[in-house]
Amino acid sequence: FKKYPDQHEFLQVVREVAVSLQPVFDKRPELLPIFKQIAEPEHVITCRVSWVDDAGSLQVNRGFRVQYSSAIGPYKGGLPFHPSVNLSIMKFLVFEHIFKNSLTTLLMGGGKGGSDFDPKGKSDAEVMRFCQSFMTELHRHISYVQDVPAGDIGVGAREIGYLFGQYKRITKNYTGVLTGKGQQYGGSEIRPEATGYGAVLFVENVLRGKGDTLKGKLCVVSGAGNVAQFCAELLLEKGATVLSLSDSQVCQGYIYKPKGFTREQVDQVMAMKKKDNGSHMLDYKSDTVLYVGDGRKPWEINTEIDIAFPCATQNEIPEEDTELLIRHGCKYVVEGANMPSTNEAIHMYNQAGIVYCPGKAANAGGVAVSGLEMSQNRLGLNWTREEVKEKLERIMGDIYDASMAASKEYGVDLAAGANIAGFLKVAEAVKAQGAV
Ligand code: NDP
Repeated sequence: FKKYPDQHEFLQVVREVAVSLQPVFDKRPELLPIFKQIAEPEHVITCRVSWVDDAGSLQVNRGFRVQYSSAIGPYKGGLPFHPSVNLSIMKFLVFEHIFKNSLTTLLMGGGKGGSDFDPKGKSDAEVMRFCQSFMTELHRHISYVQDVPAGDIGVGAREIGYLFGQYKRITKNYTGVLTGKGQQYGGSEIRPEATGYGAVLFVENVLRGKGDTLKGKLCVVSGAGNVAQFCAELLLEKGATVLSLSDSQVCQGYIYKPKGFTREQVDQVMAMKKKDNGSHMLDYKSDTVLYVGDGRKPWEINTEIDIAFPCATQNEIPEEDTELLIRHGCKYVVEGANMPSTNEAIHMYNQAGIVYCPGKAANAGGVAVSGLEMSQNRLGLNWTREEVKEKLERIMGDIYDASMAASKEYGVDLAAGANIAGFLKVAEAVKAQGAV
């Protein structure tokens, strides 16, 4: 890896994954060279994306697609549009993703790409021209059996629609080459709900393993976006108590109800936070709900807590917040967001006996339903809401079983077990395919 001295994020994640896999390399040294092989992407594509803005000026952005691993299926992963997108960050994100995709039990390899284009402040017509130009290059490298990009930061239903339209126009193929599509043209039921639901289903399996259930559990949820909303919704359905939701607009803050929100109140927050209407928790009015602003986070709520669900953003639980969670008796941390716990926080969970459910396993529900969208598109079928939900429940159970089995076999915690289970499936496939 001396070859990549400037790719700091990428090198850091490879190091971290390698350390967590040490018990595997101790027991099966033949898998170390396979790890080294997996760490090198199969293809890295970069391209110029030029487009004309509404004022008639030529604009130039850079597009990427890292096709990392096809050991267990077509490359699969998001296509973020954000000014911070660069090669190191793409490689870092997709390296983790290979093992998350593997854990879902579906046939998905690892890929990710995107562009430094910023859709914020652009007109619909500008976004459309950018997407058309990007797909004019990208279509040479993707197909439903080769590489299936998905929505991501800055890439929602509008962008996926424009990208899909251009792919179809150029190739004359109506296939599931992208996921996150509108339901009218091949999108799956339950995709918006899948990540939040998946986090709840994952911890339900953890509890079941200890002869316990979610009923009556006191849960603190952060965020009020896609993941947090559906996490709260399913928690209520399962009989748990949801004490908080939070957001970042105007100034970071949270709402808190000592006896827990009702379903009606969660629905009201969902309606209020509907994309782009600019509403903030401060606008939520109720006699029984408290609002706390000034940049504060729900981890400070001074009450007993059973489960924390960080569902907002990365690094939202640093050391000082972990101390609060420990003081309030928190027993489980379930990551709905990607990397919401800092390394220090994870260390402290382990020391305090908090069961840590890492994002790689706990938030895999979203990518799992993307995989189910691929399956439906290949079959030419649309499964019902109940069918997709039932498959999601099974997948989250399988992810827990595989993580737990690896944790027992290698004498490690659940988080390391998830890393090991994800890696072993990919490594065995690479080995079987004669790559070494
Ligand atoms: P959304 O943008 O829908 O929601 C994010 C929520 O977190 C919003 O309520 C936002 O506040 C809040 N938030 C963002 N930054 C901060 C901050 N610094 N402090 C406090 N609150 C903050 O995103 P999603 O719900 O889709 O995603 C949440 C996390 O889950 C991300 O880490 C994402 O990468 C990860 N994830 C999402 C998946 C999915 O399927 N959606 C899949 C796997 C992981 P506000 O409402 O004010 O903007």
